[in-house]
Amino acid sequence: MECYKCEKANFIKKKVDFIQLGVSLGKFDALVCPLCDETIFEGQQAN
Ligand SMILES: [Zn+2]
Repeated sequence: MECYKCEKANFIKKKVDFIQLGVSLGKFDALVCPLCDETIFEGQQAN
């Protein structure tokens, strides 16, 4: 899946700390762009 933000790289699936208000809520599967660091948490994908 190509990054919709920079359109130059593909998202990489990895575990990322989900941080909200400075507190880590644990590691979640996410799609991360290696170029621009755009991160999509899978639970947030609308489809
Ligand atoms: Zn990107």
